[in-house]
Amino acid sequence: MPDRQRIGLVIVAAGSGIRAAAGANGVPKQYADVGGKPLVAWTIGAFSDAGHDFLVQPVISAGHGQFIGADSFPGALPPVAGGATRQQSVLNGLEALQAHDPKFILVHDAVRPFVEPDLIARVVGALDDDAPAVVPVVRPVDTLRRADASGLGEIVSRDETAACQTPQGFRFADLLAAHRRAADAGLHDFTDDAAVMAWAGHALTAVEGAAGNTKVTLPGDLALARLQLAGAMKGKSMETRTGTGFDVHRFAAGRELWLCGVKVPHELGLSGHSDADVGLHALTDALLGALADGDIGQHFPPSDPQWKDARSDRFLADAAHRVARRGGRIVNVDVTLLCEAPRIGPHRDSMRAAIAAILGIDAARVGVKATTTEGLGFAGRREGIAAQAVATIEVPSEETAS
Ligand code: MG
Repeated sequence: MPDRQRIGLVIVAAGSGIRAAAGANGVPKQYADVGGKPLVAWTIGAFSDAGHDFLVQPVISAGHGQFIGADSFPGALPPVAGGATRQQSVLNGLEALQAHDPKFILVHDAVRPFVEPDLIARVVGALDDDAPAVVPVVRPVDTLRRADASGLGEIVSRDETAACQTPQGFRFADLLAAHRRAADAGLHDFTDDAAVMAWAGHALTAVEGAAGNTKVTLPGDLALARLQLAGAMKGKSMETRTGTGFDVHRFAAGRELWLCGVKVPHELGLSGHSDADVGLHALTDALLGALADGDIGQHFPPSDPQWKDARSDRFLADAAHRVARRGGRIVNVDVTLLCEAPRIGPHRDSMRAAIAAILGIDAARVGVKATTTEGLGFAGRREGIAAQAVATIEVPSEETAS
């Protein structure tokens, strides 16, 4: 059905993320969790803030189905699979949109989440019958040199260069025709759509880009994305919550002793289904308690064989992920180990560092301490180790404004 009043928007999410290696878990950067939702959902959200009714067509990599959830492409048409190159992926998105026959189309990279409404407005505003191809450009700020054998050839004048960003805007029929012609001519490696249009003989119209409209390409960029997009949530009022956790494990021979994410040399380990890290278990429960989201035994039942001998850091990482998914952050955590032996002091800082790394927070926000029980009780009789923990988090307030 024709939908000419709406502007089409192809979101190119088919990149493999090889350069980003977004997370240790191999999630492609466009689906990496940023403040509780996928990066690409932030990108699409930026367009819904721009005051136009976009018809959003995501193009994905056929192999990424496992990373895509109900929250990946808010308000969008069902995604279509991309091709071997960016150019082929865009063509697949355009073919899918053809049934809607929009008059104008924007093409935008999924991994440019920082696009601002005024940039989108500049591109849309410049599109008309005389300007079938609109490209936002920024002047490079770095000194540019040609790369020669030494890597440092002659200087290229910055006045002679321009970096092309997305979103690029086009008359839909012209862009689809240009893409089809290029594909028919056996050309598949144009790196943006302006290049396809220029090849097809159309004039390009430049509008001012935005220095902040960067592509998330490297792991460090993803950290930056988290920071900047967390700023977008600042308007929400946050509430502070606290949770506590407590756990006990019995000493056992022939087991490694894991405490607060660190392997501690000792003649005895702790018995348990997982690695029995009593400190991380107490801390996991403290975070789950702060969220009022069950407990460790509910999320990782000891009856489930997949958690046998599991490293407890994944239980704690799961709890931290639950905080992030609520749009929250961990303020601080504190663990107390109760035992006569081993001595904890020598390992305290490596335990703090291990917990900080699992939670993705600064070690200055992690306390680890230990006490004996003066020979009293099971800990005093050296039968096992107990741990208690407290966690303080901030989450967006669920109260509705009155
Ligand atoms: Mg336990």
